[in-house]
Amino acid sequence: MEDYQGYCPICETGVTYRVEGSWYRDQLFCPSCPNGSIPRERALALILNELCPNWRDKRIHESSPAGRGISVKMVQQCAGYVGTQFFAGIEQGSINNGWRNENLEEQTFPDGAFDIVVSLDVMEHVYSPDKVFREIHRTLASGGIYLCTFPVRKSQVDGWERRFELLPDGNRHDIKEPEIHGNPASSEGSIVTIDWGYDLHQTIAAWAAFDVSVYRFSDQTHGILGEYTEVVACRKRPLAGDNPAIIHPALTTRDAALIERDSPNRLETVEHYASTLEEEIKALKRELRAAKENITGLIEVNNQLLANLTKARA
Ligand SMILES: [Zn+2]
Repeated sequence: MEDYQGYCPICETGVTYRVEGSWYRDQLFCPSCPNGSIPRERALALILNELCPNWRDKRIHESSPAGRGISVKMVQQCAGYVGTQFFAGIEQGSINNGWRNENLEEQTFPDGAFDIVVSLDVMEHVYSPDKVFREIHRTLASGGIYLCTFPVRKSQVDGWERRFELLPDGNRHDIKEPEIHGNPASSEGSIVTIDWGYDLHQTIAAWAAFDVSVYRFSDQTHGILGEYTEVVACRKRPLAGDNPAIIHPALTTRDAALIERDSPNRLETVEHYASTLEEEIKALKRELRAAKENITGLIEVNNQLLANLTKARA
């Protein structure tokens, strides 16, 4: 495929995608993005914009950002953004080379510290994914969301399989051929610990109280093509008594106000709906504009047809 025009969900504008090879996962670039961007970053941005349009006002934790695309955009536009990397043998929670050091399996963040957690191609490198998902669940606020990408193997049905086991002496017992990926925090790269498969949604939901959705793309417009395009969205299930805006975002303002009349969260709830409605109004205005353009086009076609008809009659 040749370079082509599309709409980048990170730049939020029309762009010309650069096609550098047939392995689109690493070779389909948006040259307008900060340091370029690749399909999984645009897929995550697309879902982030869709599920959390007000992410700029939220508290975001990103594990192991690559300094590119949506990661840079979040740093620049979200004051509540925290990026972490994992450095073994260094005190957890301390700052190292400008990064906060966090082991995803045992984080130093307090409960409910974030509204959004993000990771791009990290989950295939953790050894105890069950612990990681439970820790992310713990550090999310009620109704908070974890968005992540990682390779999902087409040929595998089981939710996850180990590629190797760690022996008591610390050595590796390989079950599958070792596979190493690049790591922005280490020149040695990162070994792939886990193969994820089709049933990953069931697996994750069994590990922690998440509502899990899996998105998969063949989306030329947004530059999300090739293998392993999945974005996994894990919503921390709200508890009974939580803000109903979290539980049912489709409720109307009136419904919410009725439900929340005696609630201390009432103002917050109404504000949430107001911002949701503002977004909807903006979308409707966009549709209206498009419809008006269509009508103008149709009137032109109609005039042309009338002119043709008049000519034919004469
Ligand atoms: Zn872009």
